[in-house]
Amino acid sequence: MQRYSSIRLLREALRGHSGWEQAWNTPDPRPQYDYIIIGAGGHGLATAYYLGKNHAISNVAILEKGWLGGGNTGRNTTIIRSNYLHDESVAIYEKSRQLYESMSEDLNMNVMFSPRGVLTLAQNHHEVHCLMRIAGSNFRQGIDTEFITPSRISEICPSICIDGPRYPVRGALWHPQGGTARHDAVAWGYARACSAMGMHVIEDCEVTGILQSESRVTGVTTTRGAIHCNKLGIVAAGYTGKLAEMAGFELPIESVSLQALVSEPVKPFLDVVVMANTVHGYVSQSDKGELVIGGGTDGYNNFSQRGSFTHIEESISALVEMFPMISRLRILRQWGGIVDMTADRSPIISKTPVKNLYVDCGWGTGGFKAIPGSGWAMAELMVNDAPGLLAAPFDLQRFSQGRFVDERVAAGVAH
Ligand SMILES: Cc1cc2nc3c(=O)[nH]c(=O)nc-3n(C[C@H](O)[C@H](O)[C@H](O)COP(=O)(O)OP(=O)(O)OC[C@H]3O[C@@H](n4cnc5c(N)ncnc54)[C@H](O)[C@@H]3O)c2cc1C
Repeated sequence: MQRYSSIRLLREALRGHSGWEQAWNTPDPRPQYDYIIIGAGGHGLATAYYLGKNHAISNVAILEKGWLGGGNTGRNTTIIRSNYLHDESVAIYEKSRQLYESMSEDLNMNVMFSPRGVLTLAQNHHEVHCLMRIAGSNFRQGIDTEFITPSRISEICPSICIDGPRYPVRGALWHPQGGTARHDAVAWGYARACSAMGMHVIEDCEVTGILQSESRVTGVTTTRGAIHCNKLGIVAAGYTGKLAEMAGFELPIESVSLQALVSEPVKPFLDVVVMANTVHGYVSQSDKGELVIGGGTDGYNNFSQRGSFTHIEESISALVEMFPMISRLRILRQWGGIVDMTADRSPIISKTPVKNLYVDCGWGTGGFKAIPGSGWAMAELMVNDAPGLLAAPFDLQRFSQGRFVDERVAAGVAH
């Protein structure tokens, strides 16, 4: 793999960028692989990457029905944080956050990880109590989180209107190690690294069926023919339910659209991520100056990847309460992604009723931040046919046994 460096950048600048290699290969599928991963989003690519990096397995294909990173990975608002409530969640999200810190060096791709800090606002008494409880938990878990007063919020983010018209800001959870990263670069970096290890990243290859013999997976049928494998991972976010159906079982997830939008670019005024769950909007400013804005999920199940007027109105009216200065900004574009929601808003990284078939899904509205940790845990599960410490709490049995890792009750929102 050609290494990216400032010297190479300079050399290419001087010769009209004519010497760059293709970042990842675009092979035709082989008839057989040891491992197949369905879905070239961040989680699928990270799984493949850690199969290679941690377990020296490279006979792997990652099959993608569209284009690389074209699912939720390329559609999210890129918030990264690890200040969840439960120990099980903190373990995997903090592992992930730490892997983000070294990801650019690890992948030799600038993923623009920016630990600028995340402010989660409390705008009613109930939220004050919830966030104080999370701060207490995080203190015990060793996560750098602090419950701060309105005056401290104003110091950190002077543009927030503390005395908003409906819900004044009563405090916030401040998580200085949280931040953002460039979503496409994460997908591209993993794809490039997988390709360099000899894996096949195959785009435009939709899985249409799952082949089995005696309740053991043997491969998949695709729009580019049948491909056989020893082990199969479904890592397809909102489409996981459909793939499970092809394999003959049901998963406790619902697919809904989550929307986001960006404004026209303006001069820098917001150097932290702000989340406001009561009014329900969250915002950060991109390096280009655009405001990256997210809101809630659609209130009904659907597979629409488009935006809608209702969401613009809801998200903007929420944010204008806190940032009246943005009220006259123009919106540039909006879109949706199909997120996979579990009842407890925690993921599923698990074996399934079909032998050698594994799922990694249920990351819902908050899985971008989990990409490296999830890939690490899923690779471990697939290789050992048993979960490691990170994945163990997130098996499918927890739903039938009532062992929820309930982050829904904890925060009500999981971006
Ligand atoms: C608007 C929005 C905002 C969000 N904001 C945040 C945030 O701020 N922070 C955060 O942490 N998370 C956020 N998320 C959630 C996050 O984006 C997802 O949890 C994460 O990207 C899921 O990654 P993935 O790799 O599992 O799925 P995806 O990136 O969706 O990848 C799955 C891939 O599987 C492919 N696929 C599906 N079916 C098939 C098939 N039959 N054959 C072959 N390929 C198939 C799809 O085309 C897709 O590319 C947000 C999501 C959205 C939509």
